[in-house]
This record gives sequence, structure tokens and C-alpha cells, in this order.
Amino acid sequence: MPGTLRRVVIVGAGHAGGACALALREFGFDGAVVLLGEERHHPYERPALSKAMLASDDAAPTVLADAARWAGGFDLRLGAPVLAIDRGRRLVRLADGTDLSYDALVLATGGSARNLDIPGGELAQLLRTSDDAVALRARMRGARSAVVIGGGVIGLEVAASFRAGGLSVRVIEAGPRILGRNVPEEAAAWIAGLHEREGVEIRTGIAARSIAATERGAAVTLGDGTVLEGDIVVQGIGIRPRTELAEAAGLPCRDGLLVGPTYASTADPLVWGIGDLAFREGAAGGARQESWAHAQGSARAAARAILGLAPEPEETPWFWSDQYGHTLRIVGAPAEADESLARGPQFRLYLREGRVIGAACLDAARDFAIARRLVAAGARLDREKAGQAGGDLRKAVAA
Ligand code: NAP
Repeated sequence: MPGTLRRVVIVGAGHAGGACALALREFGFDGAVVLLGEERHHPYERPALSKAMLASDDAAPTVLADAARWAGGFDLRLGAPVLAIDRGRRLVRLADGTDLSYDALVLATGGSARNLDIPGGELAQLLRTSDDAVALRARMRGARSAVVIGGGVIGLEVAASFRAGGLSVRVIEAGPRILGRNVPEEAAAWIAGLHEREGVEIRTGIAARSIAATERGAAVTLGDGTVLEGDIVVQGIGIRPRTELAEAAGLPCRDGLLVGPTYASTADPLVWGIGDLAFREGAAGGARQESWAHAQGSARAAARAILGLAPEPEETPWFWSDQYGHTLRIVGAPAEADESLARGPQFRLYLREGRVIGAACLDAARDFAIARRLVAAGARLDREKAGQAGGDLRKAVAA
């Protein structure tokens, strides 16, 4: 452990920030861990926001640790936004004027929900935080209809939650198909099929032009002049990384804070960037990853690097989405495949130059776990065996 490491300051007490604090302790750091959060909630994971929290008034987000754990051994400050970073003096300045020194600084400021830049755009509700979820479920009470703008993961999970709550739902997606950012086309079609069966109308290739308040809710006017009224209008049109602090501190950013392989900033070895904020440089120009698994993995990787420990093996990127009791699972980089192999109607393996580089499936948790290992190993597959839906996927590795 580096000798001068006495205090680690983490800006952002969301999933990534909280996980980094816990990982520092897990890996043996006994100095001060200061965790600064803007929200007034203990660090929580987001998956419940668009599902369990909309299904029940009693549901709360999944916290990373209980209040007693945070109180014992961490300096967790909630409702404590950071105003500025002074890298020269190794300080962060809080909104109340306090300056806090650091030996290592972790930026985990995440992203904020993008706003529709159209007249009346503010009438569409956002869903990014636990408070947003509580506000949305309050709106669901007594509502009969909803218009969801954005056919990404948030929009579709919320649409499914609304249907489960008995609302009629219409989804508007500006792109040519739903889930265009991170889900292969055939897997997006499985999800479209689920929504269709539930009577959700999905319109693609058309954007909202304006929104106006109505007596019961709001009316969305589309590009072709169609007007869709809903008691609730929600927008889920992606996030913007919150790079303001990093940029003002002179750290290079490009759609996120630029970080290297261990999540250290490309410009300052005492600053790390993790979670949705981190734009990791690498092959094909690099990328940000917006997923639960990345929040967790990047937090642990940064904690180890800060403590001078060898890295853990890295997971191949993966994520899931729960809708109508089904789970869509994606691993690897299906978009980079030169071949895809069906393993039953709702399971695809993606290959490049004969090696498996990705998989997508609906449900099929066990085979997905095997597929993750095969993707991580870059295995060559026996196509016939791999394509047999009931067969043992482990035995489909080519000799
Ligand atoms: P997203 O996955 O980026 O999807 C946003 C969708 O909205 C895209 O399909 C986008 O189409 C579309 N869109 C953009 N502008 C639009 C407009 N003006 N009108 C209609 N459609 C428009 O983002 P998200 O669904 O808002 O999710 C936000 C964040 O939460 C992401 O970080 C996401 O990964 C995370 N999240 C993850 C999960 C999960 O892993 N299960 C679940 C919920 C949320 P184009 O691509 O064509 O622009």
C-alpha cells in the first residue's frame, strides 16, 4: 500500500462510489474514506427504480450496505455536493465552504438523465434517482394511460411496469428500432414481441415535437402531427455523464472522464474515474459503459489500483433487463460479430473469425452463465453442438 495514502475522497455516493468505498475496506485500507453524496440517500443500486419501486409503494432501492455499516468506519456525508477540485493543493471544496484534502480522489459523479429539448419537454417525468421513482409511482395512482418517450432500457422497463400496474402504454422511439444502442436487432425483436403481447404500442422512427399540459396529464405531439395523450408522460432518452467538476479541474474529458486501464485519469495519477462517468480509453477509441456490472467492476478495479494491489481478472461487459417476468441478458460485443448462431428461438451466440465474442438470450440463465465463460475465453465453437437448444453448451467448445 502506498505510504502516503492516508485519506481517499470519493465524490459521488451512488452505486460506483459506494462500492469503491466498501472495496477499499475489503482490500485492507485502514485510512480515512470520505464519501460525498449529493442525494440524501445511502448509496443504492438502480435496477429496482424502474421495476420493484414502481410495483409497490413499500419498495425501496437496494442499498449497498446498511446505515450502521456506513456509520462505522466511513465518513459518509449525504446532501454534500462538491463545488470544485483543486488538484494543485489536493483539495475538494464542498458547497458549505469546507475544504477536504485527499491523497487519492475518486470521481463517481455518474450521469444525469437527458432532457427532451422540445417545447413542454419539462412536462415529461425523468427516472434516474430513487426520489424520481417515488414521484413516478405516486403519479401512477389513479392513472390509466402513459406515453413513454424513448425505447431504451429505461423506457421499456417503465412501460412494462406501467402495464403491470394496469395502464395502457404507448412508446415512442426516435431511432429506427428499440434498444438500438446496446441490444442486437434480433434480441430487440424478442422484447418488442413481449410488449406487443401485452398490448403496448411501440412507434419507431418518430420523435416527439412538443408536449402540452392537459386536464389529466399531458399531450405529446409527434413529428407527423399525431397527438398522444397520457395521464403520465415519461422520458428515458439516455444519460449525459456529469463531467462538470472534472472539466473545471482541467481533467481531459470526452463524453466522460478519460481514464486508462486502471481507471486512473489520463492526466492525473491521483484521480480515478469510475462508473457511468468513466470513458475508458482503449481499442476502437474507447467507450463508457452504463451498467450495474461496470459500476461494481470499475469501483473494485480502482480501489485495488489505489492500494497498489494487482488487478482482479476483468469481467467481459454484460447487462440484463427485466420486463414482464422475463430477463434479457447480453454479454460481450455482439455488434462486432461477423456471424451469429441461433441456439433456439431466443438465444444467439455471436462469433468473429470463428471465436465467440458475445451472446444474447431471453431467460436461459444457466446457459447464459456458460456463454459468459465462453466469451471470456474467446472459445471456438462446434457450430452444430452450440446450435442445439437442449444440448450442453459446455460441450460445444471445438476440439
Ligand atoms: P438508453 O439506453 O440510451 O436509451 C435511450 C433511447 O431513447 C435510445 O433508444 C434513443 O434512441 C432514444 N431516444 C433518444 N432521444 C429520443 C427522442 N427525442 N425521442 C424518442 N426517443 C429518443 O438510455 P435510457 O433507457 O434512458 O437509460 C438511462 C440509463 O439507465 C442508461 O445508462 C442505461 O444503461 C441505464 N439503465 C440500465 C438498465 C439495465 O441495464 N437493465 C435499465 C434501466 C436503465 P437513439 O439511440 O436512436 O438515440
